[in-house]
Amino acid sequence: MNSRRQLLKAAAATAIAPGVMPGSASAAEKMPKMIGIQAGAVSFIDEGVPQVLDIFQERGAINALFLATFTYGRGLAGRQIPGQPFPDHGKQESDEKFFHGGNYATPHAQFYANTILKQTRAPDLGDADILRMVLPEAKKRGMSVFCSCEDVWRSSVPGVNEVAEVDLRGRKAGTLCLFNPDVRDFWTALVSDYCRSYDVDGILFFNERNGPLLNALGASHAQSISSSRVTCFCEHHQKAARERGISFDRSREGYLRLDQLVQNSLAGKRPSDGYFVEFWRLLVEYPEILIWDRLFDEAKHRVLAEVYSTVKAIRPTLQVGFHIEHVNSFNPIFRATRRYDELARKCDFLKVVVYNNCGGERYAHFIDNIASTVFRDVPKAELKRFNDHLLNYTQEKDLQELASAGLSPDYVARETQRAIAGVGGRCKILPGIDIGIPTGKNSRKASPEDTCAATAAALRAGADGLIFSRKYSEMNLANLSAAGRAVRAMSAWSQQRCLCPSQV
Ligand SMILES: [Zn+2]
Repeated sequence: MNSRRQLLKAAAATAIAPGVMPGSASAAEKMPKMIGIQAGAVSFIDEGVPQVLDIFQERGAINALFLATFTYGRGLAGRQIPGQPFPDHGKQESDEKFFHGGNYATPHAQFYANTILKQTRAPDLGDADILRMVLPEAKKRGMSVFCSCEDVWRSSVPGVNEVAEVDLRGRKAGTLCLFNPDVRDFWTALVSDYCRSYDVDGILFFNERNGPLLNALGASHAQSISSSRVTCFCEHHQKAARERGISFDRSREGYLRLDQLVQNSLAGKRPSDGYFVEFWRLLVEYPEILIWDRLFDEAKHRVLAEVYSTVKAIRPTLQVGFHIEHVNSFNPIFRATRRYDELARKCDFLKVVVYNNCGGERYAHFIDNIASTVFRDVPKAELKRFNDHLLNYTQEKDLQELASAGLSPDYVARETQRAIAGVGGRCKILPGIDIGIPTGKNSRKASPEDTCAATAAALRAGADGLIFSRKYSEMNLANLSAAGRAVRAMSAWSQQRCLCPSQV
């Protein structure tokens, strides 16, 4: 038997040896990296706290919980999203009728004195408080607990209408203006409440919103193109613009023209100089389009900085992380607006989305959108290959196969390495690993082997830890076990290969 084979055998033995069975102290000692999972309150109610934590430790080698404490969105909270098959655990019944969202812990009124957003208690699970429910059992097991807070709202929440963004045509939007003092105060109040009222280990902050330029073009994976609904043109934005010497009128005019160009492009009305030239000309003639977009990023990143400094002022050992959205993987223009080294200055870790399985259909959707407007003159398949070069992706399938193939473990490794290089050691990188994120009917469904390979790729690329995403209530147990197997193999074994058949 050659030495490699001996190593393989040794690693397999380690992975299943009784001494390092998941959940035992020796297993925890062997896993210094943070291995986290995202989960919502409903899973603990449906399946029981100790039972769920057993599964996390035994199958997933998990030592950190990212609990969906605040969101009105279904990506982090609730059971499986309606219309998708249920995973092999939990209640096999949709929560469509009672899902509401909000704060799944208990809001303490004194923290919210300076914001109009006072009534956010999630009503869907009665008096359940996810932190009170999970913290004691998690602490007993030595697991860290983080609060996931997401900037996703519903319009019926008291106060939301007063602080809503205003779109290009003057309509109220469903999103909240990040220049509005009530909104800024809400986020610092919320994280203060969690960090002072509960014995948590920190915060993971989610804000997947884009500025008006990318929204106008639909230049993300999850968007439809809505160039007349871009935001924000509210009084707080106008004030911020005045203070910075930015012309509101010129900015608005630029976006009105962009709206016109996008609508013409969607209708196939080709400008005589072509779609791209006309778009670039608009940016040259109305640089305010870029400046107004940057204003959105400024407000978004100021909220992140305020969350960080608020939490650190409470206790410096509390950890703050930011979720970096998927569009960062596909869109070079978005990438240009996100400096990893700057983000790293206001957090302890970044959860970089590297969802590879659903990434295939999402990347394809992104190409479809930009091929309908700015790059309409370029055949889609060529545009995808060109974009691959810009992104430094070399292993991904052609556009027509992308959704059914998903993205490769190589993509996971490249995005992990790029983030690590970008932050230059200033913060930790915890890639978000796709476990069962719902995809369309004809798109790839990840096998346990796929999940194992993606998990191993992130660790092999040098990740400081992982966060299994998006939520336990959409994960199949076999895939969670495969991820855990990769973690154990990688931590126990210097050869750095996981134990999935395809890898051995
Ligand atoms: Zn505004």
